[in-house]
Order: sequence, then C-alpha cells, then structure tokens
Amino acid sequence: MNIHEYQAKAVLREFGVPVPKGIPAFSVEEAMKAAGELPGPVWVVKAQIHAGGRGKAGGVKVVKSHDDVKTEATRILGSTLVTPQTGPKGKQVNRLYIEDGSQIAKEFYLSMLVDRESSRIAIVVSTEGGMDIEAVAHETPEKILTITIDPATGIMAHHVRSVSKALGLDAELAKQMGPLLTRLYQAFVDKDMSMLEINPLVVTKDSKLLCLDAKIGFDGNALYRHPDIAELRDETEEDEKEIEASKYDLNYIALEGSIGCMVNGAGLAMATMDIIKLYGAEPANFLDVGGGASKEKVTAAFKIITSDPKVQGILINIFGGIMKCDVIAEGVVAAVKEVGLKVPLVVRLEGTNVDLGKKIIKESGLNVLPADDLDDAAQKIVAAVKKAGA
Ligand code: ADP
Ligand code: MG
Repeated sequence: MNIHEYQAKAVLREFGVPVPKGIPAFSVEEAMKAAGELPGPVWVVKAQIHAGGRGKAGGVKVVKSHDDVKTEATRILGSTLVTPQTGPKGKQVNRLYIEDGSQIAKEFYLSMLVDRESSRIAIVVSTEGGMDIEAVAHETPEKILTITIDPATGIMAHHVRSVSKALGLDAELAKQMGPLLTRLYQAFVDKDMSMLEINPLVVTKDSKLLCLDAKIGFDGNALYRHPDIAELRDETEEDEKEIEASKYDLNYIALEGSIGCMVNGAGLAMATMDIIKLYGAEPANFLDVGGGASKEKVTAAFKIITSDPKVQGILINIFGGIMKCDVIAEGVVAAVKEVGLKVPLVVRLEGTNVDLGKKIIKESGLNVLPADDLDDAAQKIVAAVKKAGA
C-alpha cells in the first residue's frame, strides 16, 4: 500500500527524521490558511498524488507570496497531472501540501528497500538527487552505491561512513548522517515498509540534511499490525478493480494486456501468464482466486475480469486440489449468466471432480471452449482473441 508525500513525512517526523514544516490542504482556502501558518518567505505548493515526477509536470511550485500560493493552488487542485509514473491518463489532484520552502545547496538520492537476494534491507544512495534514478542506474551506474544491512546489527558506523563518502559529505554533515540513517531504518522496520524513497535528500544552505520528498510503500501483508497506517489508505489513488478484488480476498493485479486470467495458486497464475506470452499475447491481469474459493468468490473474480475494457478473451485455468472443479464450474456459469459473455472464454479444469465440472459447463449451454491442458488452453485463447480481432 502506498501513501501520499505529506502522510509519509508525518510518519517520518514521528521517528525524528528531519522534514520541512508543511500542512495538507483540500481546498484553495485551506491552502491559503496553511500558507499563513508557515513562516515564509518561500512556500512550496505540492500536488499530492501517488506518483513521482510531479515537479517536471508542473505539480510542484516554489513561490514567494501568498498571492502566488493562491494562484498555484487554484491551478493545481483539480487538474490532471501526467508524469512518467501516472501512465498516459494521468492522475487528478485532489489534495495539496503547502510546505516551507528550503534553500537547497545540494540534492541527493536515498532509498531503502527489501532486497530479496540478500534477505536484508538495502540502502541505495546517489549524488544524482532529484533525477530519475532508473536513468542514473542505466547511464552512470558508478554513481550509485548500494549497501545491505545485517538485521542483527542494524545501522553501524561503517554504513554511515560508506554513505557519507559516496555522497562526498564533510565531517559536519557526516555527523548528521548517522542519526538520519538510524531513524529512517527504524521507521522502515517498525512500520513494515517495503520501500522508502527520499528523492531528493538535500543539504540546505545552512548545512543541514533534510528530506524534501518522501515516498513510502508498506507491506500489505503486515498492515493488520498497523491500524494507524491502514487508515492512511486513499482508495481514489488505487485501481478500482484491485479494491474490489481485495474485498473478496482475491489476489488481483491489473496489467496491460488483453487476456484476462482466472487461476488458483500464485505459481500456476504465473505459469499461465508466461505461457500466454509464449504464444504471443499479453495477460490483462494476475489473479489468484486462492485455494478454497467459493462460488461467490469465483463470481466476483469473473465480474472484475470482464469489467476491464482491455480484456478481449478470458482463460480460466484451475487445478482442483483443495478447490473442487465443480464449484469453479458453477461459479463460472453463475457469473456468465449474471454479467454476460462478450469475449471468447477458454476453460481448463484438472483435478478433483473434474468430470463433474466439465459436465456442468457443457450442460450450461454457454459458449465455452474447453481445453485439455495448459498448453492447449493458452494456444486456444490466443488464437480466439487474434481471430476476433482480425
Ligand atoms: P517529484 O519527485 O514528484 O517531482 P519533489 O517533492 O521531489 O517532487 O519536488 C521536485 C523538486 O522541487 C525537488 O527536487 C526540489 O528541487 C523542489 N522542492 C520540493 N520541495 C521543496 C521545498 N520544500 N523547498 C524547496 N524546494 C523544494
Ligand atoms: Mg521527488
């Protein structure tokens, strides 16, 4: 789960991490009031959306008067920002953050994430702050330092030295880096974050380290431990289909392709996506209905898949272990009766009660293409979609 910049900064502030003063605003009046409560003489009006790259898209404006706060707040609030991270449709701005303007001497990049290879938290730093870090990684990888932290020791003096050296900090700033890293690391661990990105981390003209931007992602599986964080969820920033799926406890992720997939088990779901690609098409989603899905769950899953206008064909691939094939078949039949079927549907069933499952589908009279195995199923759905599109 992701949160807004102003929420991320509030979380970091709790841990004693240096962030500028700021106040969120949901209207132009609130933005003006916020500007009045901040000292000035420089204010920053920042669009709050779950995507970076706002600055270049006109969503971050540094201004020097209350009048300009009003002008920019009026312009940004309600507008749609298109950044490299929003996708071509962009995101509508419904919240602003009015922040105290800082005098910047230098901008760095700093992030923490869970590194699966070392099973540790990794810290990534670069002197190339405020830029697109993927571009830096691509063009000048030598300007990026990655270190991993042993969970038994946490942040140690040598980590601080490595980071300070990589960023070229003087002794005074290196002294501030110790507590900064320790507090960020503690926040990361205590709140079960999966990603924490400070871009830019700045050195101010009066030689202070300050986190000027903050982006945090939390591990959804650990949210039950953090009701305070769960409350920060902004559903308007999330994919509607994913929200609907989470209500039914379905593991669903929207993707860009044209073939909707309903599968049980994450491994089988990945294999299904792979084989769709192998035969030259792209999956429209990842969907694992789980091991013991009910008829209601299957119906909900089917509705979510068909609500996606990109879907031009559906592949249902179920291995009945704990799950029974007849239950799946009944769910599919019920769902098709309810929402209709406008695209080709291939169903591959295997396992417990498979014959009964196949019989239910056959006798339903629905226009379903049966398949014998995964290979056959993938070829059939790809061919059907190509034929329909031709
Ligand atoms: P994004 O990454 O979405 O573009 P940032 O919060 O990183 O948004 O802001 C973009 C740039 O705006 C920063 O790199 C920094 O130069 C400037 N900026 C952001 N916040 C402030 C601030 N409080 N004071 C001064 N400049 C700021
Ligand atoms: Mg940024």
